[in-house]
Amino acid sequence: MLYKSTRSQLQPVLSAEAIKLGIAPDGGLFVPKEIPNIKEEELKAMASYSYQRLAAAILKKYLTDYTETEIEECVAHAYNRDKFGSTAIAPVHQLNDSLYVLELWHGPTCAFKDLALQILPHLLTKAAAKTGDSSTIVILVATSGDTGKAALEGFKDVPGTRIIVFFPEEGVSAVQKLQMVTQEGNNVDVVAVRGNFDDAQNGVKDTFGNTGFNQYLLSKNYRLSSANSINWGRLIPQIVYYFSAYFDLVVKSNVAMGEKVNFVVPTGNFGNILSAFYAREMGLPVNKLICASNANNVLTDFIQNGEYNRNRHFHKTISPSMDILISSNLERLLYHLTEGNHFMTSGWMNSLRDNGNYKIDENTFARIHKIFWPDFADDHETMETIRSCFKQYSYVTDTHTAVGLNVYQKYINTTGDKTKTIVASTASPFKFNTSVARAILGDAAVQGKDEFDLLTLLSEASGMEIPAGLKGLEHKPVLHQKTALKDSIKEAVENILK
Ligand SMILES: *Cc1c(COP(=O)(O)O)cnc(C)c1O
Repeated sequence: MLYKSTRSQLQPVLSAEAIKLGIAPDGGLFVPKEIPNIKEEELKAMASYSYQRLAAAILKKYLTDYTETEIEECVAHAYNRDKFGSTAIAPVHQLNDSLYVLELWHGPTCAFKDLALQILPHLLTKAAAKTGDSSTIVILVATSGDTGKAALEGFKDVPGTRIIVFFPEEGVSAVQKLQMVTQEGNNVDVVAVRGNFDDAQNGVKDTFGNTGFNQYLLSKNYRLSSANSINWGRLIPQIVYYFSAYFDLVVKSNVAMGEKVNFVVPTGNFGNILSAFYAREMGLPVNKLICASNANNVLTDFIQNGEYNRNRHFHKTISPSMDILISSNLERLLYHLTEGNHFMTSGWMNSLRDNGNYKIDENTFARIHKIFWPDFADDHETMETIRSCFKQYSYVTDTHTAVGLNVYQKYINTTGDKTKTIVASTASPFKFNTSVARAILGDAAVQGKDEFDLLTLLSEASGMEIPAGLKGLEHKPVLHQKTALKDSIKEAVENILK
């Protein structure tokens, strides 16, 4: 399978090249030339596969230049009992007759990004070897919290790689920050940026796009690459769990094979929901993809009226991993829905860069509308949803997942749709425990307690164990104290690699 850029008629490349480069040389994103289709016969066979076997089968369809053994090795490194606290890897929890939660947080850092970032380093080092590249791969990550830690855990001590993570100093939770600044490993650096997530992401993007700087680094045997969800290698592993969730319901006879389901996805950079889109295009029986945003509802407006406009107030919310105004992966969706029209796609992206907005044509808008249903939940609604979910189902969700549950409620209120629905649960409630504990226990119970007292409190209230990755975090030594101004990310990289 070959990969093209969303922005120009570049020579198509193999998947190893696309994964190694992270971003296309013209600044576009790599997309598969065609999306593989899975026929019903094959779907039926896959329904009984283990997560690992399913992952290998899906990856194989996209990574045609990797050998079967290489893919199986990558899968074995990533999805095992040392890394994941559930043998199912991504188990499904039933709330009622038509509502299910896909728990994507049983990995080492307690958020869905582990599903991709545990395997990406292996896909990447194999990609470098396959393309005859002997330079050290330097991963630059801009993070709104969860990506950074997940990438650090995935890449730590992986030979032939370095990783530098930039996080917005004031934009992550205390737990998220401690998870990162206590990171061990001989190839890791963590830098706090004086700015918000978009500042950090723009700084990293500019560094990737700086040809002169990249040449300079290559002369020192360093090759920049990306572990953000702009890297194609992040998206394929995420396709797997949409299939596995569906098959879970089939195996338990909750849905008949071929019956359509909805997926609700708490969305920020549009990576997770884009993987659901690929699953749907591949033939997974999906009705609607419900795009759930927080108060940073730029995607809600876009899917409702076809105009993307980032010129708006940036909200710091209790679901910080979705505090994003530029959803990078939307570019891939637009490319696919315009039948691979790189003129239109790059035009919109240039307008976004220059004016902060763009408006899509009627045709593309109609296509988006057919597949996606958008809405958002503000912080107050999110808290109410955590509370009512706990009351009704004795089930504790994190703030991001609660945004999804709230938007699902709005969806059924508006449409009356009875289609069985799976909500992607993107983080463990322990990771955002201040808001979660306040929602289910009340303000008084939380007063005067830090996030670490709250882990214990939440564990007692929910009957759930504190995840291994969060236990004892406050006693770990802080190993990283670097900071950078938002427009000196390149200089920070240069200093670290010196
Ligand atoms: C990253 C993240 C999201 C947003 O996912 P995207 O792929 O960026 O849309 C949602 N919830 C949590 C907990 C996350 O870490």
